[in-house]
Amino acid sequence: MSCPICKRKTDAEYRPFCSKRCADVDLAHWLTGSYAIPGDVAEDDDPAIAEDRGRESLGRESGGREPH
Ligand SMILES: [Zn+2]
Repeated sequence: MSCPICKRKTDAEYRPFCSKRCADVDLAHWLTGSYAIPGDVAEDDDPAIAEDRGRESLGRESGGREPH
């Protein structure tokens, strides 16, 4: 078996990769979506979020500076 990243000899400790570096490279591919994952076409472009309503809760200043 050879490393899927660089095609070198697989190291038992990092199977199926040859080194931690290649294992990390593979993981990074997954995290960044370089690999095509069927059925995972999520587009997080919700315009409702950009509108930032409900932001009115910091109107009053409740400073506890009153004397007893
Ligand atoms: Zn490798």
